Amino acid sequence: MDRIDLRSDTVTLPTPGMRAAIAAAEVGDDQFGEDPMVNRLQERAAELLGKEAAVWLPTGTMTNQVALRTLTRPGDDVIVSSEAHAVWHETGGSAANAGVQFTAIGERGVFTADQVAAAIKPRGHLLYPPTTLVEVENTHNRAGGVLFPPAEAARIVEVARAAGVATYLDGARLWNAAVAEGRTVGELAAGFDLVGVALSKGLGAPGGALLAGPRDLVPAILRYRRMAGGAMRQVGFFAAAGLYALDHHVERLADDHANARAIAEALAASPRVRLDPAAVRTNIIVFDLADGAPDAAAVVARARERGVLVVAFGPRRVRAVTHLDVDGAACRRGAEILIEVIEERRAA
Ligand SMILES: *Cc1c(COP(=O)(O)O)cnc(C)c1O
Repeated sequence: MDRIDLRSDTVTLPTPGMRAAIAAAEVGDDQFGEDPMVNRLQERAAELLGKEAAVWLPTGTMTNQVALRTLTRPGDDVIVSSEAHAVWHETGGSAANAGVQFTAIGERGVFTADQVAAAIKPRGHLLYPPTTLVEVENTHNRAGGVLFPPAEAARIVEVARAAGVATYLDGARLWNAAVAEGRTVGELAAGFDLVGVALSKGLGAPGGALLAGPRDLVPAILRYRRMAGGAMRQVGFFAAAGLYALDHHVERLADDHANARAIAEALAASPRVRLDPAAVRTNIIVFDLADGAPDAAAVVARARERGVLVVAFGPRRVRAVTHLDVDGAACRRGAEILIEVIEERRAA
């Protein structure tokens, strides 16, 4: 049996069409600004995101780190959502690289403009670290692909601007959000000083991310990218995959969302699973194991023995992610196997 890999949307392999685009890519030295594919992708991303300029970076994590370095100083305070990627999934990079501290607010990955206003620590205070940045994560990974309400994001951007606080949108999965909301990524990124997007998640490229914002921040972004060791050369091979993904892999994200909902509905029918399937609106399913179920480590190990790969997100919390390389049938089968494992039933 083929394994059903629901660990992440990063596990996708390039499709034949994407491989052909990579093979045909015209490339050059990107540090001299001479990679035609990178230049084309940067221009296209800036236009899609409604920003003046975009810079290619190898990973979403480096994009987040460079955004922090660009918009903050060491010792600053950064407002983030509870369980933000920057807090949980970047191995402490933000403290080591930008030297900032985080204040996490809100619940389930979202927060309000009022909560931001209450959390902002003023500059020039004898005791407080100055809040210089608010970071929004859309979709929110650890909360389960949660959509950040666009109207609240717009209010947050206004509150921040009025307080002289910069804004950053961690949009590693912004295309998922756009497809689920029926909006453009430009609409969702409106007002944010910087926005980061990843090409290696649902879009299915082998790597690459973009950081978009005003042209006058580009020199700082390029410097911090270089400082992080992320200035590369003939990366048009990645950019070609990204351009191909923008042409072919955006609308189909709706399939991933439908598949995730189907998995969520199947899982939620088990008395041993705690999950609200209506809350699953994009491609990530995060569920809790109810009393009586094995713990997450056991579920992950036993599911793997049966060819289904998921990850533990806590002692009794599991994450599954749908993507380009798992179709509807594979997702239905994956959910069946997960339920058998959670209910400790033998295969039929
Ligand atoms: C995956 C992810 C990133 C980082 O992307 P990598 O390319 O894996 O470094 C950043 N933010 C969020 C919300 C993510 O899910």
